[in-house]
Amino acid sequence: MTLNDIDFKDKKALIRVDFNVPLNETFEVTDDTRIRAAKPTVVKILEDGGCCILMSHLGRPKGVQDEFSLRHIVDVVEDIFGVQVLFAGNCIGPEAQNAAEELEPGQILILENLRFHDEEKQGDAEFARQLAVLGDVYVNDAFGTAHRAHASTATIARFFPENKCFGLLMAKEIESIKRVMETGEKPVTAILGGAKVSSKITIINNILDKIDHLIVGGGMTFTFIKAQGGSIGNSLVEEDKLDLALEILKTAEKKGVDVHLPGDAIVADAFKNDANTNTAPINEIPNGWMGLDVGPRTIDEFKDVIMRSKTILWNGPMGVFEMDAFAKGTIALGHAIAEATKNGSFSLVGGGDSVAAVKQFGLADKVSYVSTGGGAMLESLEGKILPGIAAILE
Ligand code: AMP
Repeated sequence: MTLNDIDFKDKKALIRVDFNVPLNETFEVTDDTRIRAAKPTVVKILEDGGCCILMSHLGRPKGVQDEFSLRHIVDVVEDIFGVQVLFAGNCIGPEAQNAAEELEPGQILILENLRFHDEEKQGDAEFARQLAVLGDVYVNDAFGTAHRAHASTATIARFFPENKCFGLLMAKEIESIKRVMETGEKPVTAILGGAKVSSKITIINNILDKIDHLIVGGGMTFTFIKAQGGSIGNSLVEEDKLDLALEILKTAEKKGVDVHLPGDAIVADAFKNDANTNTAPINEIPNGWMGLDVGPRTIDEFKDVIMRSKTILWNGPMGVFEMDAFAKGTIALGHAIAEATKNGSFSLVGGGDSVAAVKQFGLADKVSYVSTGGGAMLESLEGKILPGIAAILE
């Protein structure tokens, strides 16, 4: 059952959202992306003539701590949704129950931080039951916490055997992953970058069966290059993963996946923005120098693969994009993905730093989908069944 199959008229929708937004010292919201992301779900329910009870965590409080109160975000939610927003100072108990009972169609109620109760993270059934009594339908729209088996993300679903569904954001996240991992038009290309092979190995193992091209960039490149006998100077390397790198290349070959490693690098004599730089073949980096970005030849080669791909997954930057001097490869790759998308390819950017990069370089609305969930997206790419998703499907 999807959200759009349900008529919410006169229904109280209990929605798990991810409003874990950053606040400054005066408790102002500094990035409201996650609140806006919940808008389609909330609008659909309100337009049906229902009301929304929103529950979320904020930060990592130890017990009740005012600095982590969701009261701080009420005004912003009101601005974004354009309707009156009420607040209950506890997510369970009489205050929450009274507020939920009195809620009228068209109104929104925000419950206080779920993590003010330790039972939330423990996935406690009695705590989940006390939340469940507040609503008629349970909606999970918190992709960012879908990889956690918490009371509000997983346990609670059992109290709504017939009346539970994904929110529209969550449905879009799941659909995007499916489009890359299962139903994507070929050729399917995965671009993996970032610092280390070790943190991406489970993803690599899982996706090799599903892709045609694997583009490798970023710091993890050098473990592959060294394993193949190249000289990598002082570049980042995981000495204990050299055999693993060779194994990945062998498996990829067996499975018919074309692996594209960089041919050249922008090298620097120090890990800083104003270091001396040069371009070097990827396997001839002199001692005292380190590869901090992909080089111009590599950019051209990677662009060519991307422009030929119909489905593209991007996780991890091509270089140390936080420093201007080493951001060119990541920017160029982002633009190539944007162009391929314009030409009709599907592109998903997910997990951590590549999301930061597309936002920083103004490319977020030029790719098909930018995931809102770092850890949840990575675990999905690793092939894990997320507890928050399983609980709705059970
Ligand atoms: P990850 O969290 O594994 O996706 O790694 C992201 C980090 O990798 C970013 O902070 C980048 O600065 C860093 N990174 C990318 N390329 C390199 C490189 N060639 N050398 C060192 N760090 C890199």
